[in-house]
Amino acid sequence: MTSVDPVLCCRNVTKRFGAATLAVDDVSFSLNKGDLLGLLGPSGCGKTTLLRLVAGFERPESGEIELAGQTICGGGQWVPPERRRVGVVFQDYALFPHLNVAENVSFGLKQLCRRGELPKQQIKSLMGEAIALVGLAKMARRYPHELSGGQQQRVALARALAPRPPLILLDEPFSNLDVQVRLYLRQEVRDILKNIGASGIFVTHDQEEALAIADKVAVMNEGRLVQLDQPEEIYQHPASRFVAEFVTQANFVTAVKSGDRWDTVLGRARGIPGEGDLMVGQEDLKLTADEQGDCLVQARQFLGREYQYALLMPSDQVLQVRTAASQRLAVGDRVSVRLDCERVRFFPKEGEPIVLGRRQNFAV
Ligand code: ATP
Repeated sequence: MTSVDPVLCCRNVTKRFGAATLAVDDVSFSLNKGDLLGLLGPSGCGKTTLLRLVAGFERPESGEIELAGQTICGGGQWVPPERRRVGVVFQDYALFPHLNVAENVSFGLKQLCRRGELPKQQIKSLMGEAIALVGLAKMARRYPHELSGGQQQRVALARALAPRPPLILLDEPFSNLDVQVRLYLRQEVRDILKNIGASGIFVTHDQEEALAIADKVAVMNEGRLVQLDQPEEIYQHPASRFVAEFVTQANFVTAVKSGDRWDTVLGRARGIPGEGDLMVGQEDLKLTADEQGDCLVQARQFLGREYQYALLMPSDQVLQVRTAASQRLAVGDRVSVRLDCERVRFFPKEGEPIVLGRRQNFAV
């Protein structure tokens, strides 16, 4: 296996705002060259602050940040933001309204040139390449107000990419866009970054977006980095109940001991190793229309390719279930439920989650 150099290393980075807010709490991670990392977590968990620390807009209390082999922060070093080779794409695009597309994209290049970091003759070609890369070559003379939201976001991306920095940071880049535009632009941005081998970090609180386009997903909670892994791993093997709830939106079902078995709202089970909760994926519950069934369809949402049902259990717990669009049930229908046990995970009161699987004889 060939080893890939990291483009970014954060070591024990901590940032406080006043005494009360620990926005980023002892965060360490590294990002490999060419990878796209999605920073995911609930509002206020520190995603933007971590991005701003990497960009140099904030100074950490402690920790070190290394970019492309150079320490940019920590150990007595401090490289100011304009000298860090990172491109930043902001949520609101932050384009200059009085400059056209070409001028917006070449703005940063001219500054580099003024500081002697870029030969003047390269400005035009770098600007042209960046505009072509985002598919706006025909709109180079337009002003921001003459562009759609998606086009403005592409200009912001072109501006960040133009100097060919080793790292691009994107702060909720798609959140101001209509859902349709968001869906195709997020794939397009990924393709553009991949085509030129750029590394990137994007902030999002949309788990589907993170899973869809990132090579790695970092989940944050209350300033801490709680799991960093490939999207599939995060989804299938969440390291904690927090990650499971935030990322997979699974159901949690408590197991209560009753003799040598365990009672759950889905029936009785054997082989559960102790007190705790079962994580049951929305797609792991199989429904059958059954007039004698104990469960009631309480709500239904049609999601295009599938249905999402809210199912009222006899215990009054409501479970979320996803089925193929071919399984159409009506609100008020009675159903029976079967659990596909293969992927059930068990979260003990203390300690690491365990995959139960069929061996555990979870007979509901
Ligand atoms: P969101 O998804 O809502 O944008 P986030 O995960 O990006 O949230 P941050 O913006 O990084 O979260 O904020 C982390 C914590 O730090 C929050 O409690 C926030 O109120 C606080 N915070 C952020 N910036 C400042 C600041 N300049 N001064 C004081 N507190 C701040």
